[in-house]
Amino acid sequence: MLIQDIEKILTDSGIEPNEARVETKLLLEHFAGFSISDIIMGKKLDDSKLELVAQKARYRAKTRQPIQYIIGLADFMGEKFIVNSSVLIPRDETELLVRQATEIIKENNFKNIMDMATGSGCIACMLAKLNPNIHAMGVDISTEALHVAISNMEKLSLFNRATFRKSDVFSKIREDEKFDMIVSNPPYIPPSAKTNIQKEVSFEPDMALYTNDAKGLEFYEKISENASKYLNNGGYLMFELGIDQSIDVAIIMKNSGFSDIKILKDLAGIDRVIWGKFN
Ligand code: GLN
Repeated sequence: MLIQDIEKILTDSGIEPNEARVETKLLLEHFAGFSISDIIMGKKLDDSKLELVAQKARYRAKTRQPIQYIIGLADFMGEKFIVNSSVLIPRDETELLVRQATEIIKENNFKNIMDMATGSGCIACMLAKLNPNIHAMGVDISTEALHVAISNMEKLSLFNRATFRKSDVFSKIREDEKFDMIVSNPPYIPPSAKTNIQKEVSFEPDMALYTNDAKGLEFYEKISENASKYLNNGGYLMFELGIDQSIDVAIIMKNSGFSDIKILKDLAGIDRVIWGKFN
């Protein structure tokens, strides 16, 4: 058994060669403590460890469960976040939201940030890490997700800087608890898209992915319509967007009293982050 054989287990199941290479590296690192420099140095891996890695690769190939769930960790902005099937796996695009929010937080010297639908807590935790003067509160309806978010807060030593609360959107937030900014990467996939979703995505919680309405706008509406009650004057609302949702979401935000609406594209040219100001 060679490292190439592990890659082949993955590519034989239809996983792209580049992806298979990355995943093999992750499996070797995680289950055999074998790093990329060990590979370059030509270090030999003993057969029992290689067999364990092969076993995990076979499981990945057979089930198509995301590699992050098999390992229990996902890379996000240079950190390893704990993940399991109760939370969405953090996506690279979400870094755009975190970076843009950080710019606005620094410009305005903001202190209190809310991350609505926090899931793994990746946004709340990264905002707290990058902005030492803020407090970030992550909110989610799922108790299981909140357990994961709290583990990530502990892992990153963000005690008292990122806290979490169980709440169905704003149901458990008091109107006198004011925030300078509300950010959210809400569920935004219309239920009709469920039938042709990638196998890997079917392992992620439906509740984190899908809305009930046909256009995937349910949470943009629920959050926008209520956000101003919880924001300080001059506060911001910011969302991550799904494909082709920017115009609809801009209208929803305008109708909810937000102005100065701005949009940022991701590397694929898709409108990915939208934000507006409440006065
Ligand atoms: N906030 C989390 C993330 O961005 C979870 C989002 C969600 O579950 N919709 O990854």
